[in-house]
Amino acid sequence: MELLETLCRASGVSGFEDEVKQLMKKQLGKHADEVIEDSFGNVIARKGAGDKKIMLAAHMDEIGFMVKHVTEEGYLNFIKVGGIDNRILLHQKVIVKTEKGDVEGVIGSKPPHLMKDEERKKVVKHDEMFIDIGCRDKKEAEKKVSLGDPIIFSPTYGNLSRDVIYGKAVDDRVGCWALIEILKKIRKNIDAEVYACATTQEEVGLKGARVAAYKINPDYAVAIDTTLAGDTPNVKPQESNLKLGEGPALTVMEASGRGVISHPKLHKVLCDTSKKKKIPTQIDILEGGMTDAAIIYLTREGIPSSVVSIPTRYIHGPLSVFNLKDAQNTVKLIASALPSIAKL
Ligand SMILES: [Zn+2]
Repeated sequence: MELLETLCRASGVSGFEDEVKQLMKKQLGKHADEVIEDSFGNVIARKGAGDKKIMLAAHMDEIGFMVKHVTEEGYLNFIKVGGIDNRILLHQKVIVKTEKGDVEGVIGSKPPHLMKDEERKKVVKHDEMFIDIGCRDKKEAEKKVSLGDPIIFSPTYGNLSRDVIYGKAVDDRVGCWALIEILKKIRKNIDAEVYACATTQEEVGLKGARVAAYKINPDYAVAIDTTLAGDTPNVKPQESNLKLGEGPALTVMEASGRGVISHPKLHKVLCDTSKKKKIPTQIDILEGGMTDAAIIYLTREGIPSSVVSIPTRYIHGPLSVFNLKDAQNTVKLIASALPSIAKL
């Protein structure tokens, strides 16, 4: 479990995944026949031999920010990298990842006490906020940070209860963790080449998976990611029925069909494996949100793809909450399904 914590705490804003990449190379390398990094930064581990190629993908990058401008007063203006709701930003602690090391900061805005009634009702936009790094002026701030430095939410990880865990970047470090654990479980005699692929730049347009899928040219692909849990107050069951601890979610359709539409044969193998091995699963039908599978399945002449997700609360916030059992069952399910996928 230490590995999961290390992965969540690591820094990896889209395009700046280096810290996670080094971890993944090392960990996948322990269990693979070969590990490479492609020119886009994806880490691809291969294991097993056979006629079929099966690609498993989990993204290494996380949502975050980037330094856009330094004000005369020594504050940082920033852009958002990936989908982040402005309402969760205020007064968060962040870390600017500079060449010289980490610089701590606090996201600030005009105090509500000084706002007019009308102003106070509106959501403060990210470009009206700034990052306070404790500098007196621009000159001092520019000694510490540079334009283009990536920024992450402050690393955090812990337990709410025995199995319920919170952490930064759970999306998709829990998927990266599952990728390593699955590779560990693959036996040499599996009749397929399995490619465990830790992808880059998912949060900004599923980019790493696109080039990795082209290179690997798999027969089948399964993305491992997080998905929205609906077991919090004020969410209706018809909006999301996914609950923490009730098993990994098997996606049928993402983004009302604009994302992946899981290949029926692949989906059936995952459902059958779940029944046969008595691994609990839930069905995920999404109106919004996509995963790497959405681009993998459009690669070359089309690659039958599916998604297994870990239900997660507060996705794309400073920290998310998930159940460890769902992560462990994701590993069990995919590892058990691989021999059947190889026979498709
Ligand atoms: Zn994700």
